[in-house]
Amino acid sequence: MRSHLIKPELGKAYPLIDYGKGIYLYDATGKRYVDGCSGAVSANIGHGITEIIEKMAEQANRVSFAYRAQFTSEPAEALAAKLAEWAPDRLNWSFFVNSGSEATETAQKMAIQYWQEKGFARKTRIISRWMSYHGITQGALSMSGHVLRRKRFVPILNDYPAVSAPYPYRRPAGMSLEEYAVSCANELEQALLRIGPEHVAAFIAEPVIGAAGGAVVPPDGYFQRIREICDQYDILLIADEVMTGLGRTGKKFAVEHWGIHPDLIALGKGMGAGYTPIAAVLASDDIVGTIAAGSGVIMGGHTYSANPQSTATALAVLQYMEQHDLVSQAAANGRYLLERLQQLAAKYPLIGEARGLGLLTGLEFVKNRPTKEPFALSLGIGQRVLEAAFRRGLLIYPAFGGLDGMAGDAVIVAPPLIITPEQIDEMIGLLDAAIAEVQ
Ligand code: PLP
Repeated sequence: MRSHLIKPELGKAYPLIDYGKGIYLYDATGKRYVDGCSGAVSANIGHGITEIIEKMAEQANRVSFAYRAQFTSEPAEALAAKLAEWAPDRLNWSFFVNSGSEATETAQKMAIQYWQEKGFARKTRIISRWMSYHGITQGALSMSGHVLRRKRFVPILNDYPAVSAPYPYRRPAGMSLEEYAVSCANELEQALLRIGPEHVAAFIAEPVIGAAGGAVVPPDGYFQRIREICDQYDILLIADEVMTGLGRTGKKFAVEHWGIHPDLIALGKGMGAGYTPIAAVLASDDIVGTIAAGSGVIMGGHTYSANPQSTATALAVLQYMEQHDLVSQAAANGRYLLERLQQLAAKYPLIGEARGLGLLTGLEFVKNRPTKEPFALSLGIGQRVLEAAFRRGLLIYPAFGGLDGMAGDAVIVAPPLIITPEQIDEMIGLLDAAIAEVQ
């Protein structure tokens, strides 16, 4: 039958998905895939979980949709309360949207509105970093430092990143991690002095770089210094935890690894865990209090924001995570996964670095390990490893194209948080065979 569906690659044939169970997906031919990247780092609790499906059916039988300008609902209230319990201090408020792009763009707008309500209408710029991804909608892409994804649309983007992100693997020779952390963070201060803090509403960053770098973890001290600079120059700090949030890195929020409190957090992906599209902005008491005391209306939102069906599903996901202690499991199994990836790196010279935090891990490929020289532009080893893994029944996630040229030719390995050590071994076996095939 002729297809009318626009797929990512128009000329490619895709297998037909049949069903999913736990960390496995099965296509219509019966082929089994280990979901080594939780789809798009989103199916965080695995596929086909009966408890979630039952709660979804229960809610659908009651009411799926009630418009948020007309009603509030029990699941939306309960989900916001649960997130306030999970979130760092002061971040007691949730605004629900449907995708990570909407979340970062809503955070951007909330930051601008906050300053307007305080009488600083000129504070409208958001400083972001190269080697980042905040989403595909126009505002989110404007903040994104993902070269490949920006390229075509630069003429319609209204901004570009002003600072670089720490990339410890490629830091200047002879510089310690401590010095590098401070020097990268100080780029924010230099940008603020150049642009003028009176024009800047916020700084946005992914705590661990995802699609634009492949699980790049910042050095200790970086985010602490960033927080200091934000406070000193009166700008808000937005943590884009769309990929890292809700347990993925072995803490509820990745910012907890450095003990910092952002003013706004964007969430998505693992929040609906693949069972429903839902995302959120978590906002501080100060931000919501200021807007409540001013205009009283948050200018934003989408038709499906806070709908009962999606909020009930996300609530069931968080409850499931609590019942099965998945955040601590992600920390423990993440350490084991990284160990196994480091063993692969020791075996294959084309792996420049194995890195990550919790169950968000990555491999960067290089032509020459001692010099870290990347492969030629045409080779795309990350893509070839990904395709070889797919043929063998292992899904991993692309993280190349974030930088100009081939530096950062990486893939992400980020299985569902329910994965067991035995299943990690199974996954590593498939990955080993895939790398052996392309090396
Ligand atoms: N922010 C981060 C850190 C992401 O990784 C992504 C998606 O990959 C987004 C935002 C955009 O999310 P979505 O694709 O749900 O719009």
